[in-house]
Amino acid sequence: MARFTIPRDIYHGRGSLESLKTLEGSKTIVVTGGSSMRRAGFLEKVVKYLNEAGMQVLLFEGVEPDPSVETVQKGAEVMRNYQPDWIVAIGGGSPIDAAKAMWAFYEYPDISFEQLCIPFNFPKLRTKAKFCAIPSTSGTASEVTAFSVITDYQKGIKYPLADFNITPDVAIVDPQIAETMPKKLTAFTGMDALTHAIEAYVSTLNCDYTDPLALHAIKMINEYLVDSYNGDTIAREKMHDAQCLAGMAFSNALLGIVHSMAHKTGAAFSGGHIVHGCANAMYLPKVIKYNSKDPIALERYAQIASFIGLKGRNDEKLMESLIDRIRELNVILDIPMCIKDYENGIIDEKEFLNKLDTVSELAVSDACTGSNPRSIDKNQMKKLLLACYYDTEVDF
Ligand code: NDP
Ligand code: MN
Repeated sequence: MARFTIPRDIYHGRGSLESLKTLEGSKTIVVTGGSSMRRAGFLEKVVKYLNEAGMQVLLFEGVEPDPSVETVQKGAEVMRNYQPDWIVAIGGGSPIDAAKAMWAFYEYPDISFEQLCIPFNFPKLRTKAKFCAIPSTSGTASEVTAFSVITDYQKGIKYPLADFNITPDVAIVDPQIAETMPKKLTAFTGMDALTHAIEAYVSTLNCDYTDPLALHAIKMINEYLVDSYNGDTIAREKMHDAQCLAGMAFSNALLGIVHSMAHKTGAAFSGGHIVHGCANAMYLPKVIKYNSKDPIALERYAQIASFIGLKGRNDEKLMESLIDRIRELNVILDIPMCIKDYENGIIDEKEFLNKLDTVSELAVSDACTGSNPRSIDKNQMKKLLLACYYDTEVDF
């Protein structure tokens, strides 16, 4: 038996933000990030539409990129005092993810973060509030997924929380909100979306319900990401939809070790965070090569390559064409090929090598490893991470 869960309503297209007027309830808390949504005037619109729906509104602003357990607890406390019946999260993956975890702590004040970290172990939500998500980046697709990534800064580890209980009730995918993304954010989040779709397509949990979503998303991203990066409005719109389709696929087929590695390297080093989408973009070609030793995975990478019109006289060559295309995209989008070159070398080589053992162990035990098409042990993970640091060949 398998399960396919997505939000009950997905409003999409230009102007769909207005569908907030259709929410029924009395009190909404709006969760958002630093200032991008306020500056662009979207927050004001959200409040206006919710007021028109007859709701009282409280704002919770300031969720940081890669949200912390502390921010989540703070938000949950505000919710417990305010008792909203709707939680509306607007922004990138960070505020939406934070709001999802706040929701769990709002409804279950006594639950521990450790309990929530066990995959598919959430208590039943919606006893107090429903959830609406409005993405402002074209990448994480948190608006349709069963995931929330929360960072434990004491340990320097990102935890992907997973449960269909936190799949939002309503998603509003309005491309106008993504128009204000700067170039770098467009590039990173776009490559995050591409990774979602590719990992979902080769996941051990892929199925006929997720495959079409994943393939179509890959095709759209291949076609529109570069133009979106260069500021084309129609392409930006297409990317906003494509990332959402990818989200529906991976929320149900799950991901693989590109994400395991991104989660465990993301907040591990003192030089700075490795931004999620950029980490994925750097690791994806290496992981494809590693996974291709598995014959079924190889066949599926070849199917992706054929589907988007890449050439190759056999599966091996098609898989290599796919890797070449991803590396080509990285070049066009000004994304480095490896961790060593990330942000002018802020990830120190010595520190990387010192932490390699621990990070590899944590990556193997990440919740995303279970659905990767080829199994991996700590030693293989170490080799793979080294290849991602130095951009060396993967032949093991
Ligand atoms: P973030 O939400 O972290 O936002 C990054 C930055 O972009 C912030 O400074 C934010 O500013 C700014 N920003 C967001 N939208 C806009 C916009 N439209 N215009 C201008 N600036 C904007 O970025 P992501 O969406 O990439 O989310 C990344 C997080 O999501 C990571 O923690 C990652 O691990 C997680 N993730 C979650 C998944 C899921 O399924 N739940 C899947 C994959 C990743 P400001 O704060 O001012 O709004
Ligand atoms: Mn991701």
